[in-house]
Amino acid sequence: MLARRAPVSGSSWICSACRSHARHQTASSLRAYSTAATRQRPIHLAVIGSGPAGYYTAYRLLKKLPDARIDMFESLPVPYGLVRYGVAPDHPEVKKSAETLMTVSEHPHFNFAGNVPIGTGPGHLPLTALAPHYDAVLFAYGANKDRKLNVPGEDLKGVVSARAFVGWYNGLPEYADLNPDLKGGDTAVVIGQGNVALDVTRILLSPLELLRKTDLTENAVQTLSESNVKNVKVIGRRGPLQAPYTIKELRELLHMQTLGFAPPPEGWDRLMGVERRRLPRQLKRIAELLEKGSKTPMTEAEKAWQLGYLRAPAAFLSNDNTNLQAVGFEQQEYDVDPSSLITGDAPTDLNAVRGLRVRSTGTKSLIHAHLAFRSVGYQSAPLDGMEDIGVPFDTARGIIPNDRWGRIISPSEGPAGPLTAGHVPGMYCAGWVKRGPTGVIASTMDDAFTTGDIIAKDWEEGTKFIPEEENRGASAGEAGGSSRGGWKAVKREIQKRGIRSVSWYDWTKIDAEERRRGALRGKEREKIRGVSEMLAVLDGYGRTSYENWGDR
Ligand code: FAD
Ligand code: NAP
Repeated sequence: MLARRAPVSGSSWICSACRSHARHQTASSLRAYSTAATRQRPIHLAVIGSGPAGYYTAYRLLKKLPDARIDMFESLPVPYGLVRYGVAPDHPEVKKSAETLMTVSEHPHFNFAGNVPIGTGPGHLPLTALAPHYDAVLFAYGANKDRKLNVPGEDLKGVVSARAFVGWYNGLPEYADLNPDLKGGDTAVVIGQGNVALDVTRILLSPLELLRKTDLTENAVQTLSESNVKNVKVIGRRGPLQAPYTIKELRELLHMQTLGFAPPPEGWDRLMGVERRRLPRQLKRIAELLEKGSKTPMTEAEKAWQLGYLRAPAAFLSNDNTNLQAVGFEQQEYDVDPSSLITGDAPTDLNAVRGLRVRSTGTKSLIHAHLAFRSVGYQSAPLDGMEDIGVPFDTARGIIPNDRWGRIISPSEGPAGPLTAGHVPGMYCAGWVKRGPTGVIASTMDDAFTTGDIIAKDWEEGTKFIPEEENRGASAGEAGGSSRGGWKAVKREIQKRGIRSVSWYDWTKIDAEERRRGALRGKEREKIRGVSEMLAVLDGYGRTSYENWGDR
C-alpha cells in the first residue's frame, strides 16, 4: 500500500524534500520531446476521471515511478465514479474494498480536482488548456451514456433507462429528480440480462428493511416504500446460457427471503439446446440454479421475478401516446442448432455456447406493463475537444482506439506495433473507455495496471510524450518559466474560468457531512444529491478549495 499521511490542518501534504525536489526542476532541464535523458525529472500525468480505472492506473504508476506527479480531474465534486454511483447500495463490501485501494489520493504527489469537468462550454476545462501542462494525459472517464434500443415508443413515460434508475437510487446528481413511477401497476419489465438488470430487479423487489440500512438515498427508500411493483420480468433476446449475469448475482436473487422465482418454462430442454452433461462447468451451475429455482416457494412468495428468453424488444406500446402500457417483442430462434456445438465426448466450448446468435421468427408477442427498464449496456462518448489534441474516438465500438496496452493510437497512422507506431504521444486510456462498458472492478483494475505499466515503461524507455513546444506555446507566462506547468499552471486555468474546484480535503468534508447525516438515520451515509448542496456544505466549513491547501 502507499504511504498514508495524517492531514495537518492548513498546511500542505508535501514534505520538505519533495518541495525542494520540485523547486529544482527548471525549464533548462527539459527538452522538446522528452527523451531518456530528461527522465531525471518526474513524469507529470493528468488523469481524467476518478473511477477505478483512473485510480488504479495512478496507484500503479506511483508504485513504478514513485516520483510521478499525478493530478486527477473529476467532473463531479466527489470521487469514485461507478463505485459510488453504480455499485448497488446493498453491496457495501464492494464499495469499501474499492475505496480502500483508492488511498492513493493521500499520496503527497497526488492532487484531486473535483467539480472540474474536462470538455468545452461553461464550467468546463478544455483539453487544450490541460494537456500542454503535462507529459501525459490518461483518459479514464468511463461510459456515462446508455445504449438505446431505437425502437418505437422508447420515449414514452414509463420507459426508464437502467442507468438513470441506478443513478437515481445511488444519489447521482444528474438523476436526482427522476422520481420513477412505481405506483402505476404491479408488473415491471427489465430488458437485458446483464448484472445491471439483476441489480435493478433486486432493488425493486428487496424487502425494504434490508435497503434502509444501506446508503440507498432516503428519497429512493421513500419511493420504494410506496411501490406497487410485485412482479419483475427480466427479458433476454437470447437463451438461458447466453445471459451475461454472473452466478453470484443470480444466486443472490434466488436466495432472497420472500421472493419467488417462476419455474423454467415449458420446453426448457429445447431452450437450453445442449444436454446438461455436455455443458462446461460454469454453464452447468447456471442451469442447475435456474432449474432449482428460488429458496422461497412461489406459493409463499410476497413478490416474484422471472427470466424470459428469445424475445427481442420491438416496440413500447401505448393507447394514449403518453404512458407505457405494454412492451412488444419479436420471437427469436437460434441461428444454428445448439446441439451442433457438441463434438465427441468433450464438454461444449464455453465461448461457442455463450456466443450463440439468434434471428427473428417474425412472431410477435407482448407483455402488459406500465414500467420498463432498458438495461442493455452503458456507452462511452468522445469528450468535446479531443480532436483538438489529436485524440481519436471510435464511434462504432464506443472506445478510444488503443493498442490494448493503453496507448491511444491514431487510426490514420496505422496500428501501434512493438515500437509504438501510431501512438499519439503522451496519450493513454484505461477502463471502460478503453475496452468498452463491460467488466467488474477487478478486471478494470487489471486493465488499469496494464496502462500504468506501459506509461512507466514508455517514460523510462524514452518514448515520445506530449511535445514541449506545444506546451510552451499554450502556457507561456503561465508556468513561471517552467514549460511543464503541471498543477500550478492548470490551477490558474481553472481559476481563469471561474470553476470552483474541490480538493481532496474538501471531499473529506462532504464525506464527513454525509456520514453525519447517515448516522442520524442509522445508516453508513446519506448521500447529498445535488452539486450545489455539496458545495454549500463546503461553505459551511469556510474553506472551499485547494487555495488553503498548498501546492504540490
Ligand atoms: P467509471 O467508474 O464510470 O469512472 C469514470 C469517472 O470519470 C466518473 O467518476 C465520471 O464522473 C468521470 N468523468 C466522466 N466524464 C468526465 C469528464 N468530462 N471530466 C472529468 N471526469 C469525467 N463491478 C463490481 O466489481 N462489482 C459490482 O457490484 C459492480 N456493480 C456495478 C453496478 C453498475 C450499475 C455498473 C454500471 C457497474 C458495476 N460494476 C461493478 C462495474 C464497475 O463499476 C466498473 O468496472 C468500473 O466502475 C469501471 O471503471 P471506470 O473508471 O472505467 O469508469
Ligand atoms: P451487459 O453485461 O453487457 O448486459 C447487457 C444486456 O443487454 C445483455 O443481456 C445483452 O444481450 C442485452 N442487450 C444489448 N443490446 C440489446 C438489444 N438491442 N436488445 C435486447 N437486448 C440487448 O451490461 P450491463 O448489465 O450494463 O453490465 C455492464 C458491466 O458491469 C458488466 O460487465 C457487468 O458484469 C458489470 N456489473 C457487475 C455487477 C456485479 O459484479 N455485481 C453489477 C452490475 C454490473 P446480448 O448478450 O444478447 O447482447
